[in-house]
Amino acid sequence: MANVLVIGAGGVGSVCLHKMAMLSERFDNITLASRTLAKCDAIAASVEQRTGRQIATAEIDADDTKATAALIERVQPDLVVNLALPYQDLTIMDACLLTGVDYLDTANYEPRDEAKFEYHWQWAYQDKFAERGLMALLGAGFDPGVTNVFTAYIRKHLVAQMQTLDILDCNGGDHGQAFATNFNPEINIREVTAPARHWQDGEWVETPALSHKQSFDFPEVGARNMYLMYHEELESLSKHYPELQRARFWMTFGDAYLTHLEVLQNIGMTSIEPVIYEGREIVPLQFLKAVLPDPGDLGKNTHGKTCIGNIVSGTHEGQPRSVYLYNVCDHEACFAEVGSQAVSYTTGVPAMIGAALMLDGTWRQPGVFNLEQLDPDPFMAMLNQHGLPWQYVDLDGPVTF
Ligand code: NDP
Repeated sequence: MANVLVIGAGGVGSVCLHKMAMLSERFDNITLASRTLAKCDAIAASVEQRTGRQIATAEIDADDTKATAALIERVQPDLVVNLALPYQDLTIMDACLLTGVDYLDTANYEPRDEAKFEYHWQWAYQDKFAERGLMALLGAGFDPGVTNVFTAYIRKHLVAQMQTLDILDCNGGDHGQAFATNFNPEINIREVTAPARHWQDGEWVETPALSHKQSFDFPEVGARNMYLMYHEELESLSKHYPELQRARFWMTFGDAYLTHLEVLQNIGMTSIEPVIYEGREIVPLQFLKAVLPDPGDLGKNTHGKTCIGNIVSGTHEGQPRSVYLYNVCDHEACFAEVGSQAVSYTTGVPAMIGAALMLDGTWRQPGVFNLEQLDPDPFMAMLNQHGLPWQYVDLDGPVTF
């Protein structure tokens, strides 16, 4: 009997809960806890309506380790799935250590006052988890997450000696809003406005945010402009695959999105430095989040597709080889299935799959892991079964951009 506690009732949490509920043979008992109980209850109602299953709900401030540990003691889960915000990663990991329970998340820990996108805080828990015989699985969303598994799969089956890796993240969807982000606006804008960084010949090369643009013809989406960015999986992939001479991450943005972002940046609205307003300290980016559309509400009006995948070049069985392995996901199909758009869907489904593979023992081992450290095959099989089918094509040669 697998008992799971999910923390975080946002867009990703909602998808993950629906998918877990659909897989009753693997997730017998599910509890959803978050800061706002009403959001948990709304998700529970939707899950019951769509799947007929009841899930328990609870209110929790996961910044509070003791309270989180007390909740874990009460629920007695086999696994805690953290789908709150990156700020809560360490407090929830601490609560898991206190109570002796496994842990999974989808985004690396972030201090509130500085955008870092680094794993070292969480990798430092390696010995603590290993000594207690517990497992922590880090970054089990799409990117990071599936993109890490794609890399491991390519290396295992398609390009044994990898030389270059390009991760291409395209959201070809249209939500009809002048400006909105597809997941938590605070985290999303921090990520987009940070300087770009890529891995080249054993070191990081930093360039100004959004300064390197490239057009790419995405399968089932068409030509889009994508921009070189830093993304957290580059850190673990360059560490675990030292043979990579270059590793880069690209994300598509429309012109209107970038124009809005530039204005917001120029007037200081994307800053994470607190300012005093009417005697109260506020963080401009957090205020901006409050006035922007809730990503969870975008699904009903979003159409189009996402296409996220990896291009890897190198050699295989003595021959040069370049492959492009990707998933295409349709916003409207996701909304019809679970009531969320594809960005939440492509994150929530991998979180469910990672949880399932930990709970049934397939992936379970003591320590702190990124997904590329585990056998990609069972995860890749489950992607095909649970809504994120993938395919690959051989390319004529390495990318020329
Ligand atoms: P949302 O902002 O929609 O949801 C976050 C949820 O966490 C909200 O329900 C929020 O509560 C809750 N929460 C925030 N603080 C606390 C707290 N202190 N205690 C308990 N609950 C809290 O975010 P998303 O669903 O879009 O994203 C969830 C996570 O997934 C984020 O970490 C994000 O970075 C990550 N992500 C990963 C991706 C990947 O591919 N790897 C892609 C997209 C997202 P409240 O409703 O009260 O604010």
